[in-house]
Amino acid sequence: MPTSLTELFSPACHLCPRRCGAARDEGAHGVCGANDTLKVARAALHMWEEPPISGEAGSGTIFFSGCSLKCIYCQNHEISTGNFGLEISPERLVEIMLELQDQGANNINLVTATHYAHLLPAAIAAARARGLVIPIVYNTSGYERASAVAALGDLVDVWLTDFKYADAGLAQSLSHIKDYPRVAVSGLAQMAREIERRGGELVDEDGLMKRGMIVRHLVLPGHADDSCRVLDLVWQTVGDVPISVMNQYTPNALMREQGGDLARAVTREEYEQVLDHADDLGFTTMFWQEGGAVDESFTPAFDTTGVLTSAK
Ligand code: SF4
Repeated sequence: MPTSLTELFSPACHLCPRRCGAARDEGAHGVCGANDTLKVARAALHMWEEPPISGEAGSGTIFFSGCSLKCIYCQNHEISTGNFGLEISPERLVEIMLELQDQGANNINLVTATHYAHLLPAAIAAARARGLVIPIVYNTSGYERASAVAALGDLVDVWLTDFKYADAGLAQSLSHIKDYPRVAVSGLAQMAREIERRGGELVDEDGLMKRGMIVRHLVLPGHADDSCRVLDLVWQTVGDVPISVMNQYTPNALMREQGGDLARAVTREEYEQVLDHADDLGFTTMFWQEGGAVDESFTPAFDTTGVLTSAK
């Protein structure tokens, strides 16, 4: 298993499981939309992550532009496929982390950083050397190479990972990525190994997660049965970990135009079916969302806040 993220990046990028081989170090763009320059859409405190992540002060989120998944229903499409954001240097990324800490962030929350993973070891080390003490949260789609997870194991304190699909056909039709379930199982198992190697989960007296993982799953309308199979896979792979089952699915313009199940919200019955299944499996720490879906407060404005200068 290669351990060097630089080796996975160049001369042909294989950082993520798509392994598209783009010559990003020569300026080419990969399937994720990224070339050789960091791009960030927002860096600010975020209050809407799970309580052990946001706490009362908020999570110091850094939203990276681009994504290796191509989910047709994406709720952050302006940055994931639209690649909206501002180019920054690795030195500016270090400053952003320190500024978020100064603003009171409970952690640094790297959102969809997979395609920039090769730059993270140096940036995190530099930030640590300049006084960064809060945990690093790696907020991912779950589509990760196990080797990349292993290479980040000493740097990442909290894995906040999605597990989107159990069915390969569904993954192909909704995210254009057939191997998602197999890859997500392998990445999740590696995240659990990294946490164990570091001494296991650590939660402080205020309930903030200092080390560990939370597995997230967004229930999709019409696909509650697959959601239950996702929970089966998580249970079989890593057992009783904290899980977050979300019902905030909001149809984007394309989904509303296409019609069908993905043009609507998740019903209460669908959501309860999945929550009941999690209970039946035995998950003891579960986060869920109250009320209906479609709450804009969950989706921050991607307005480049905090990217070039502190949001404070
Ligand atoms: S990170 Fe981007 S460029 Fe690299 S393999 Fe994945 S999609 Fe391709």
